[in-house]
Amino acid sequence: MSFTTLGLSAPILKAIKDQGYTKPTPIQKQAIPIILSKKDILAGAQTGTGKTAGFTLPLLELLSRDKSSTKKRIRALILTPTRELAAQVGESVSIYGKYLSFTSTIIYGGVSINPQLSALRKGVDIVIATPGRLLDHLSQKSIDLKDVEFLVLDEADRMLDMGFINDIKKVLAVLPKNKQTLLFSATYSDEIKKLSDRLLNSPVLIEV
Ligand code: AMP
Repeated sequence: MSFTTLGLSAPILKAIKDQGYTKPTPIQKQAIPIILSKKDILAGAQTGTGKTAGFTLPLLELLSRDKSSTKKRIRALILTPTRELAAQVGESVSIYGKYLSFTSTIIYGGVSINPQLSALRKGVDIVIATPGRLLDHLSQKSIDLKDVEFLVLDEADRMLDMGFINDIKKVLAVLPKNKQTLLFSATYSDEIKKLSDRLLNSPVLIEV
């Protein structure tokens, strides 16, 4: 099976080809068509399985299918537990989206907030963020999340282990109800179940 049968369009397929990927990994094979069908997913996937492309590729595809508004607004929010992962996911968004015209920015703590403020002021389509710094932006009203259509929680179990549950809840509270949510977690605990119960709408379960 190749990438061409998964429902991705030419600019994304070209970026995949540039990366030298010849076939989708098992998580990509399963997740991409389901995400493209606009369903929520709960995916059990470890690092190294290709999970990042598994959500980034269909996300870019869905964003590119609907460009009705010309107004710059944040349409996708990807939450990660650490700044390293945020940087890595941000890099993937840039690589896989290089033939599309979306802008993205990475938001994490431990660095000056000023470059983040100026990036947000210019307007971006996609934000990749760690919960703590994202909350700082929310409380100083430097970020507007009311137009978010897609939410990804990457390594959700690690976010919970790191004590981010209250931060996550505060972020969730300002997001629109009507959105597509993708939850990735390497492990499946009671906490993850609770989070997915409150967050996901009839999710499709994916296990690799
Ligand atoms: P991840 O699990 O998302 O951290 O990805 C692990 C690594 O696999 C990354 O370095 C990706 O560049 C690479 N990768 C993702 N998808 C594929 C694919 N379909 N074929 C080959 N390598 C891939």
